[in-house]
Amino acid sequence: MIVVMQEGCPRENVDHVCHLIREMSLIDHVIVGTERTVVAVIGDDRLKDRSVLESCPGVDRVVPILAPYKVASRVAKPEPTVIPLGGRLGASVGGRRVCVMAGPCSVEDRSMLLEIAHAVKDAGATGLRGGAFKPRTSPYQFQGLGEKGLKYLAEAREQTGLAVVTEVMSIDQVDLVCEYADVLQIGTRNMHNFNLLTAVGKTGKPVLLKRGWIATLEEFLLAAEYIMDAGNQRVILCERGIRTHEQYVRNTLTLAIIPAVKRESHLPIVIDPSQGTGHAYMVPAMCRASVAAGADGLLIEVHHDPEHAMTDGGQSVTLQTFARIMKEIKAIATAVEREA
Ligand code: PEP
Ligand code: MN
Repeated sequence: MIVVMQEGCPRENVDHVCHLIREMSLIDHVIVGTERTVVAVIGDDRLKDRSVLESCPGVDRVVPILAPYKVASRVAKPEPTVIPLGGRLGASVGGRRVCVMAGPCSVEDRSMLLEIAHAVKDAGATGLRGGAFKPRTSPYQFQGLGEKGLKYLAEAREQTGLAVVTEVMSIDQVDLVCEYADVLQIGTRNMHNFNLLTAVGKTGKPVLLKRGWIATLEEFLLAAEYIMDAGNQRVILCERGIRTHEQYVRNTLTLAIIPAVKRESHLPIVIDPSQGTGHAYMVPAMCRASVAAGADGLLIEVHHDPEHAMTDGGQSVTLQTFARIMKEIKAIATAVEREA
């Protein structure tokens, strides 16, 4: 259940509610919204007496949350969460502006990263993606440049002001990646790695959480809940397609998740049409569709020479195509009362 406090109620009232919740052997989780504060009650609250909390000073009402996720739930926080990303361009996800994070699948070397970073920035991106630690299906494939790649990303941020989004694959990498990244990416293969979710939940960095390729929406939101429960409210959901029987795509990009997330949660949702389709020729159309459907942002693989990319060349768009995508989504954003 959640306890909705009255608008402008004093902090002592909130503290008192938290105290009572703890006395019931439950966990309190305060969510401060722009208009009012709510306290989410975590734990099995079925046998507890709601009326005790209802009659506390400063309490407006007590509402049950039926969904298993609580802090991520829209019931707990009706207004959308806006997450600033860092960098010098004022990037944020979840507000009126559609946030575009673009760059290579992997950081391959310094010069390619800088060339791509400048190009995506000039075209209007505010975030730079690029993997330094790469989860690869085969141990014989390129595994990423590691810390050297992180250093190049930081240099690209220095030069362009773009916020850096990069993957952290394991708990022992969290501190190192935090030194360089603005946003920690949790890959699809790690969405169920609950210890890693808790570890990034203990950092102060925004987390871009990719949906597991066989995860349901409920499991996806529960993964977000792990991060939030550990203390980090800055979770950006990312749909990157799921595995189906289809052969014409690498993954099936389920854009219906956008309105579903908007109904269930206050967290922003971004779409990755690159992993989501596996084919560069499909990416512009899926970018347009995502913005039309209300996505808060896009994560797009861009390469100056896709034919020679070390990873995911077939799904990476060229610099020219990326610039065209940016123009197209600006027009679509305006049509749906957003900006890009
Ligand atoms: C990526 O973004 O390059 C990537 C590996 O993504 P995912 O975890 O969605 O496969
Ligand atoms: Mn990739």
